[in-house]
Amino acid sequence: MTMGRPERKYASFAARRQPGRRLGLIPAFAALLALAPFTGLRAQPAPPLAIAVRSEVQGHESRLTFTLQSCVQAESYLLETPNRAILDLPEVNFQIDPREGLPEPAPKPQKHRHRASAKETDSAKATPGPAAGAGLIASYRFGRLAPGKSRVVVDLTGPASIVSTSCAPSPGAFELTLTLAPASEAAFKAAARAGSEKQARATVQSAPPAPLPPSAGAQKPVIVLDPGHGGVDTGALGREHAIEKYVVLDFAKALGAKLRARGSYRVVFTREDDSFVSLGQRVRIARNLNAALFVSVHADALARDGDEVQGATVYTVSDRASDAEAARVAEHENKADSAAGEEAKEDASDVNDILFELTRRETRAYSHVVARSLTNYWKVAARLNKNPRRSAGFVVLKAPDVPSILLELGYLSNEEDVADLTSPAWREKATEQAAKAIDAFFAQRQPEKQPEIQPENQPENLAPTPDAPALKATQSTGN
Ligand SMILES: [Zn+2]
Repeated sequence: MTMGRPERKYASFAARRQPGRRLGLIPAFAALLALAPFTGLRAQPAPPLAIAVRSEVQGHESRLTFTLQSCVQAESYLLETPNRAILDLPEVNFQIDPREGLPEPAPKPQKHRHRASAKETDSAKATPGPAAGAGLIASYRFGRLAPGKSRVVVDLTGPASIVSTSCAPSPGAFELTLTLAPASEAAFKAAARAGSEKQARATVQSAPPAPLPPSAGAQKPVIVLDPGHGGVDTGALGREHAIEKYVVLDFAKALGAKLRARGSYRVVFTREDDSFVSLGQRVRIARNLNAALFVSVHADALARDGDEVQGATVYTVSDRASDAEAARVAEHENKADSAAGEEAKEDASDVNDILFELTRRETRAYSHVVARSLTNYWKVAARLNKNPRRSAGFVVLKAPDVPSILLELGYLSNEEDVADLTSPAWREKATEQAAKAIDAFFAQRQPEKQPEIQPENQPENLAPTPDAPALKATQSTGN
């Protein structure tokens, strides 16, 4: 999420940047409807398309407007920490570049068509409240939440109230508009509490069923593959239009196929499509299945020095971050729920007793072994970061009883990395190495003696390697 706006845009989004783009709407929708009888769309109506978005400031009001193929019923509410406005919708097919919702770069000398006119901006300046001229909308995201559901998340610059949520015909299409106005802190907090309750009620009604534990006959170890982000939470937006949620899903699916082909594991995904899955749900899936291994897959992007930093990093969980970069990555990845417009939830899972502590220590030792195995195998075919094993407080790695690692495949802000991560040939060899590393881990599953030592200080030969995959993890450092 930290990349700036790229020079190039999605080709498919380019058309609507041109003047008179609305004239194109009718033929586009008409073409879609004309295809319907041949594609089965009529039997199972496809989600309506959203093809444009604009934000504008008018007087003291800020508006976010989506251009849609048809009107949808929207539920709007506010949330705090951080301050957000949420629009919950039935599923909408957003054909809009997610970069549209990123904050504008600091000085904005000339306005593109999404900005308010000079006159409107001047009038906004006169109103009290958030940054002059900028209005209440700091940034926004939109996308799928779950099958049949979509969401828009608006990051607010200050306390706001929802004036209205409306959908009305516009030439050739429909417009769904969220209108916000400044509000007092007290009024906002009261509304945000109501919003939190509203979301909790909706979540209870639609809680996904927990996966079943392995049946009695199934003795294969369960590996849970966890492609990061998804749906409304895009993850990092990189060069060459690369979007983290798609890059990591492709990688996880390719890795899962390799592991399944071995016949010796049961492979489960936390998501297999472009849906949002909360961090807590990802951990629950692994724990409910008594998983033997949890692998979360991500890709990073840097706003600054983006082209200088590259290579994969394997993270394990620790109470204290191994370094400032690990702390930054964990903080960023831990924001996934908040980015998707979920109310922050208290983590009440930690039980402080001796048995829990022993289990957790042993689990962390296994996590270190698999992390080391992965870096050892990875470097044979792909690039590692200069400091490839780090640790920090990743929420998604906190299952006390499931060995868990988080693989950052590389940096989508780096030219070479983005070329690799989006290449099927690279994916083929990188997933093969990852699968071999996992094989080596299961072939020799032994915890280390001293799990609390930082990974950087640990001898290389404590983990299975491509050259000596049968090395015992507990072996002394002499070999
Ligand atoms: Zn990520």
